[in-house]
Amino acid sequence: MKWDISRVNVWGAEEFPHGAVIPEAGNSVYYKVSGWRSQRPCRDEEACTQCLLCWAYCPDSSVVVKNGEVVGFDYDHCKGCGICAVECPVNRKFGRSAIEMVSGGSDLPEPGLGDANGTPAGAAAAISEVG
Ligand code: SF4
Ligand code: SF4
Repeated sequence: MKWDISRVNVWGAEEFPHGAVIPEAGNSVYYKVSGWRSQRPCRDEEACTQCLLCWAYCPDSSVVVKNGEVVGFDYDHCKGCGICAVECPVNRKFGRSAIEMVSGGSDLPEPGLGDANGTPAGAAAAISEVG
């Protein structure tokens, strides 16, 4: 639809066309981003100290925590920004990689990094609870 804005300089508030409408709070949960993500985080369970900073920093609430521990990532909503890997203190201070960004969306398995989503064994059920 193309708006006729020829008189925009004299529009009153009631004349502005409605833009996007968000009819339901929290509806971004229905929007899955795995189709356009170019990278995704993979966590090394042994290197991880369970400090939970990745969970605190993730802007998309995509670090899945179960019983007070990080168990994986919600790859339906993780957009691969890499903030979790940058903020992980193990990565920054100890030269190990508790979180490593690897290429690919959710459909690309990484050998040796858990299931097809890079999720540690046992975390899939927890992730499905948030999906
Ligand atoms: S890559 Fe970004 S969106 Fe995905 S889990 Fe890490 S901080 Fe969250
Ligand atoms: S920030 Fe790093 S060490 Fe802390 S819980 Fe996340 S992956 Fe583990």
